[in-house]
Amino acid sequence: MIRAARVVLAFAVAASAGRAAYAQAAPDLDPKIVQLVAQVSQERLTATLKQLETFGTRHTMSSTDSATRGIGAARRWIFDEFRSFSPRLQVGFDTYVIAKQGRITRDTEARNVMAVLPGRSPRRVYISGHYDSRSADVLDAGAAAPGVNDDGSGVALTLELARVFSQSGVEFDATLVFMCHVAEEQGLMGAKLHAQRAKEQHVVIDAVLNNDIVGNDRGGNGIVDGESIRVYSEGPEDSPSRELARYVQRWGMRYVPSHRVRLMARPDRFSRAGDHTGYNQYGFPAVGFRESRENFTRQHDARDTFEGLSPAYLAQNARVNAAAAATLALAPERPVVTNDRGQATIDGQPSGYDAHLRWKASPGATAYRVFWREAWGPDWQHDVLVGNVTELTLQNTLIDDLVFGVAAVDALGHESIVSPYIAPPSTAVDAGDIKTVPAR
Ligand SMILES: [Zn+2]
Repeated sequence: MIRAARVVLAFAVAASAGRAAYAQAAPDLDPKIVQLVAQVSQERLTATLKQLETFGTRHTMSSTDSATRGIGAARRWIFDEFRSFSPRLQVGFDTYVIAKQGRITRDTEARNVMAVLPGRSPRRVYISGHYDSRSADVLDAGAAAPGVNDDGSGVALTLELARVFSQSGVEFDATLVFMCHVAEEQGLMGAKLHAQRAKEQHVVIDAVLNNDIVGNDRGGNGIVDGESIRVYSEGPEDSPSRELARYVQRWGMRYVPSHRVRLMARPDRFSRAGDHTGYNQYGFPAVGFRESRENFTRQHDARDTFEGLSPAYLAQNARVNAAAAATLALAPERPVVTNDRGQATIDGQPSGYDAHLRWKASPGATAYRVFWREAWGPDWQHDVLVGNVTELTLQNTLIDDLVFGVAAVDALGHESIVSPYIAPPSTAVDAGDIKTVPAR
């Protein structure tokens, strides 16, 4: 139970320490982000979906020679499309040669298509989809596989946000990466290979917003829902991906209140996976956007055509992505809430029954927002904006019963992902560590 008097005291402490931050406190909505979200064009999305359909198939092992059909024509078109948006975008192929294995029936050159919009900082925020497609027979590289929803929808969204962000004139702190993966249908190969390379090169990836099957609002069972999107994230409950999911809901729904973000406390749909899983496997925070009502008969099938899409729905999903990615890319880095030994900097001092939180200052932050919730619950329940301070004490507040986190906020109100105070897992100690005296 939080005693109101103590919270009031916390505000008083913050106000005296951070009056300058309050004096320039900004409204919750940044006009620049409102403008970005408004620039998302349903017509542009429609044109991209129709173009992707014309390639007939985008199977990872389909033709690379044809100018009009297959994976080669598709990747060249995506590359050129990125290039046409803005000279600020650095466009390239992220290329691998995958040896014959599993669903790859011969050595195959695989190219992710990526566009980088450099920010002040090298830390990266990804918006992604996969441009390869498949038919019912995953080994048949020649069969019709229009893949307009799976995952033309994610590719159209990624291209549209690359256009809007790169043409906005906004200078972001984070570097934005617009990524169209390949070989998803062969086992998330394009995403895994890229994530592995990023890890080897010590690339900092703050977030991956992966969109796969996000363009249809009519379920195969006849139920229609064009007003919500599912976001899946790997646990446990305060994992980096879960914090990213909460962030997407918080900021996506602030800028797009007409669209509901439904968080799902599991890595993906039941027994299924997507490219975000590949990033998770290399330790990067990543979430998967999935339409609320799927039509399974149109997936991995010649019937996955434009006629099964709702561009208005896809546009709403693109706006949610835009709001979350822009806020994150403009915000300071999240605060560090651990000491040099990796232990959470939270304790019960001074009384032993208080909540005493400390964090390291984030460059560019002018204030911090402290969040908490009961220890049995998925969503942050309370938050307070404190000034430009690096510690907070809440008296008579047991840290055993609440989960705490803190986000960095800049002078324009851009807020980072929340850094939660979590204890390391207890698996390090087991009965094998206990010395026992042999029985006589
Ligand atoms: Zn897919």
